[in-house]
Amino acid sequence: MEQDKDGANARAAIYTRISKDLTLEGLGVTRQLEDCLALAERKGWSVLDEKFEDNDISAAGGKKREGYNRLKAVMEAGEVDVVVVYAADRLHRNSRELEDWIDLASETGINIYSATNGFIDLSNPDGRTMARVVTAFAAGEVEKTKMRLIRKHLELAEAGAWPGQACYGYTADAEIVPEEAAVITEMAARVLHGEGLNAIAKDFTARGIPTARGAAWRAASIRNILKSPRIAGLRVHRGKVSAKGQWAGIISEETSAMLRARFAPGRSDGIRGGARKHLLTGLLVCSKCGTGMVKCINGRTKKESYRCPKNEGSAACGGTTIVSAETEAWLAEAAFQFQDARVVGQTEATSEWLEQTGALDARLEEIASDYALGSISRSEWQAARAAVERAKSALPVPIIRPRNLTTGAMLRVAWDGMATSVRRAILDDIFVKVVVMPRRQVTGPKSFDAGRIVPEWRQ
Ligand SMILES: [Zn+2]
Repeated sequence: MEQDKDGANARAAIYTRISKDLTLEGLGVTRQLEDCLALAERKGWSVLDEKFEDNDISAAGGKKREGYNRLKAVMEAGEVDVVVVYAADRLHRNSRELEDWIDLASETGINIYSATNGFIDLSNPDGRTMARVVTAFAAGEVEKTKMRLIRKHLELAEAGAWPGQACYGYTADAEIVPEEAAVITEMAARVLHGEGLNAIAKDFTARGIPTARGAAWRAASIRNILKSPRIAGLRVHRGKVSAKGQWAGIISEETSAMLRARFAPGRSDGIRGGARKHLLTGLLVCSKCGTGMVKCINGRTKKESYRCPKNEGSAACGGTTIVSAETEAWLAEAAFQFQDARVVGQTEATSEWLEQTGALDARLEEIASDYALGSISRSEWQAARAAVERAKSALPVPIIRPRNLTTGAMLRVAWDGMATSVRRAILDDIFVKVVVMPRRQVTGPKSFDAGRIVPEWRQ
């Protein structure tokens, strides 16, 4: 006499699964297991010690479905009489998966029960039809949930809600971390000043400034921090600034716009500029041959000078030399005075740049909406967009000064404490080049003669 397989004392296997959808609904493994055990108890089944479990979230268990495969083996070996899985509508999120279970049930002749929403028995046609209907509805629910989430994210983005996670400069609750904010302000100023990212990273590491993860500073970490509109209190959605954030910015929106433009694709972002050893190498130019001068030390007197390098086979004449210390000091002072004279013009350059990029951004929006409304084709839109992007990246980003270094007087005070690369960035911002004229007979070789220095000023 054939025993009813689902009768009391049947051997039951329990299968649970962790998936993102189930976890979002708070249906962890424990909860699933409890419900399955309750069903087994009501039916009077004895539950196998081995629990079958798959984890769709962790990478290791992801696609292999080891639990499912082991359960299948146990079923095929006839070691169980009945299988309990968590609610069919929750577990069988897609119809293909449900059909796997139906096939397995009919191949092995083992009934599969789901633990909630009534018991769906996959061993008979009515049960299978029910399971398929329920699964179709469940799949629809998942889609609706996804749509709701997408809409919710968009709403949050448009309202400028804080994105949630901590980042350099902010706690997870959008509070500014003062020490990190100070570092951000400094790196922003130095980058906009034209200093290379590598030089800044090296300086920060040397000063023992901690990074977010406690590692050494790298050019990429600085760039990533400065590129993020979040530090200017701006909310980003799908890669675009979507709203003014509901949190305080560390840098101004204008500064952020300039930084983002500086790091935009197709623009050299100054990563290569490493720490500089000599202040004027390459900035000083030999008047006789036009070659950039290099720093040398006189072997006998130990006196430092810049000279035109005489190399075999190169155009350099080797005919000009000028003392180092006095030249560096004289040019710095000239730079301070020049700086005082031009501070006024700077804000104008900045607002002009902002106006120009703003106009191009508006143009981008305009052509995007032309495309959305169907008045231009996709290829026309792409071509137009590319042209505007090109125009945008061709606009030179104005160089702005750290707020505490705006005037020549401020520069003069801070000068000796600055890294050579910072000082050089400032000089590069003031001088196109500095031509060094030949020595004049009257002054003789020893004394410094400022008359030999002919700067070409940047306008
Ligand atoms: Zn020369």
